[in-house]
Amino acid sequence: MIGTGGTIAGKQTEADALSYDSGILRVDELLESASGISEIATFRALQLANIGSQDMDGDTWVALTTLVDRTANLDDVDGIVITHGTDTLEETAYFLNLSVKTPKPVVLVGAMRPATAVAADGPANLRNAATVASSEEAANRGVLVVVDDKIHLAREVAKRSCSRDDAFESSNCGLAGYVEGRAVRFVANTARLHTWQTEFVFEESTHLPRVTILYGHAGVDPSLVDAAMKRGFLGIVLAGVGEGNAPQPVLAALRAAVGEGVAVVRSSRTGRGFVRRNVEIGDDDAGFISGTDLSPQKARILLMLGLLTTRDPRALQSLFYRY
Ligand code: GLU
Repeated sequence: MIGTGGTIAGKQTEADALSYDSGILRVDELLESASGISEIATFRALQLANIGSQDMDGDTWVALTTLVDRTANLDDVDGIVITHGTDTLEETAYFLNLSVKTPKPVVLVGAMRPATAVAADGPANLRNAATVASSEEAANRGVLVVVDDKIHLAREVAKRSCSRDDAFESSNCGLAGYVEGRAVRFVANTARLHTWQTEFVFEESTHLPRVTILYGHAGVDPSLVDAAMKRGFLGIVLAGVGEGNAPQPVLAALRAAVGEGVAVVRSSRTGRGFVRRNVEIGDDDAGFISGTDLSPQKARILLMLGLLTTRDPRALQSLFYRY
């Protein structure tokens, strides 16, 4: 079990208080408090970080991939559980889904209530994650996310509520399965390439290319595109209105950015649906890339990994169709 922090490792500032600090308890302490978990599997506790996941970043993702692969290569390890804050859990899950090379189960888990809360959801989620990670059936399905008795695919899962317990959804494609006590019931696989099937390799010292997200809205300011270019971003993901759309001046600025060698991906802020090429916007002409049905934050991850080896919009588009 690899700890990275989050509410699952959080402590209330006072008993019964809504306020708390995330990333306080160590993963060995979480293991001690999750009663019954030692009957499911024997764990070794590794602590990579202890942060709120709003502070997760590219260097920590690279370190986490390296640690997961190194650990998974040990003969006595059958699966890996990673504890994580819920805010960016879906991003870390997708990054690992594209970068770790093991077929063994890799399961991310978080909680919406801190470990000290009366009705903390962390211990049950941890037990469920242990059940999935130790299940032979969970191998070779890509990275999985286990919360609230549900199993999500890394590519599909999203935090869709900032406060409610049932925060996680897989709105485009549905769930991977359910945890029912000590039983694991899978209902779907991903149709996309993942883990050992992917082409993304990097060194422990690799820094990911800089890619930013431009949030679309009525009247968005086109000078933000120029600002991103001046700051040296190699990629811009448009979290566009509707099907990855934006006001004309913004589209013109993005076309100019492509002309300067910046990769531009059109995705949607709506949360569901597939951004099709050349529907309202001439992507072929502009050199834009469709983010398909990836959320803007996941499109950013795929673009960062793609930009490690190519800046060609057609090669990058082909990655978005495969991953
Ligand atoms: N902001 C914190 C984090 O993502 C709290 C959210 C949570 O873990 O539920 O780590």
